[in-house]
Amino acid sequence: MTNTQLLKIAKDFESPVYVYNSEIITQQYKRLTSAFSKVEKVKVNYAVKALSNISILKLMKTLGAGLDTVSIQEVQLGIAAGYKAEQIIFTPNGVSLEEIENAAKLGCQINIDNLSILEQFGTKHPNIPVCIRINPHVMAGGNTNISVGHIDSKFGISIHQIPHILRIVENTNMNINGIHMHTGSDILDIDVFLYASEILFETAKNFKNLDFIDFGSGFKVPYKPGDIETNIEEFGEKLSVRFNEFCKDYGKELILAFEPGKFLVSEAGQFLAKVNVVKQTTSTVFAQIDSGFNHLIRPMLYGSQHEIENISNPKGRERFYSVVGYICETDTFANNRRISEINEGDILTFKNAGAYCYSMASNYNSRYRPAEVLWHNGEAHLIRKRETFDDILNNQIQIDLEPKKVKA
Ligand SMILES: *Cc1c(COP(=O)(O)O)cnc(C)c1O
Repeated sequence: MTNTQLLKIAKDFESPVYVYNSEIITQQYKRLTSAFSKVEKVKVNYAVKALSNISILKLMKTLGAGLDTVSIQEVQLGIAAGYKAEQIIFTPNGVSLEEIENAAKLGCQINIDNLSILEQFGTKHPNIPVCIRINPHVMAGGNTNISVGHIDSKFGISIHQIPHILRIVENTNMNINGIHMHTGSDILDIDVFLYASEILFETAKNFKNLDFIDFGSGFKVPYKPGDIETNIEEFGEKLSVRFNEFCKDYGKELILAFEPGKFLVSEAGQFLAKVNVVKQTTSTVFAQIDSGFNHLIRPMLYGSQHEIENISNPKGRERFYSVVGYICETDTFANNRRISEINEGDILTFKNAGAYCYSMASNYNSRYRPAEVLWHNGEAHLIRKRETFDDILNNQIQIDLEPKKVKA
């Protein structure tokens, strides 16, 4: 999208505002699926939590994606977007048996990540097929070093507990139809991912009725120059070969599943905010925008670096700025960042704002969550209104706090 188009969006829909480009989402989806074109059956389940706007879910549906969900509400959102329950995998962590049963009742694919629930679910519903989330204990140590670790992670059932899984499966006579891992941000390079995949294949051999193997996500996208980006084409080549070999040995054409969030939507998103104040202090120049961690918390929560550009003055002389927000907390988006000269009223864009940005927004300081716009076929479409004061008051209940009148 051009700066002119972005500035028009900031003007028409006011700032702050999130903008997503459907073309980039489509490109990323196609990159991923074509990387695995040599595998017969591939399923991409979009991780709803990255960006859960219903229009985005509908866009994913037109591309042919299923959904990966982590709460019953995300399941409901998926169904509201027109997905059939069978296209939705429910991969929660630490939720109640009841919530899992509710998702199963709707017809979602269940994915269980602890032995306690596995045993309870298997005992009550031996006929409902279940996928098991494995923790392969693999993480990147240095560049290509592979170290076994992350033993403390709360996610998944440890590969060291396979004998216990098998005992539960045998005792309950339940049907395991999938094996899954999602190692999140631990895995940075392809070799490590492939190493973890081998562990998953080993695990899969223990189960005779599998329909799919789900390799989760953890694909990297670059946030700043020099960042690691998963080479999806090379990864696809290598994993496809191994996957096809595995299926041959296993004696069945299994589905290869993924559940990317960030990879599909991160780069498609930009966050536009206006500079309210330029403030010189004894040590820096602050550019204070009409936002804060109530709208975009990743820099403060994870130390993420979102590139920032001044689209109102892209050719201006570059200076060093600390970009901060307007809420009453330290809300530093960027420190000592080189940006073309900023004047009050300028619009800044934050790149890579598609994933885990709007979906983590809050009402802190009683501010409204921003609007969301989808750029689709060369046009800007509002896909979520900015909140209003009614939204702030909506669920609040005003009780009578007048002192009781004492009768004379
Ligand atoms: C969050 C999540 C994903 C998506 O991760 P990305 O890094 O955004 O691709 C996939 N699977 C599960 C189970 C998740 O919790």
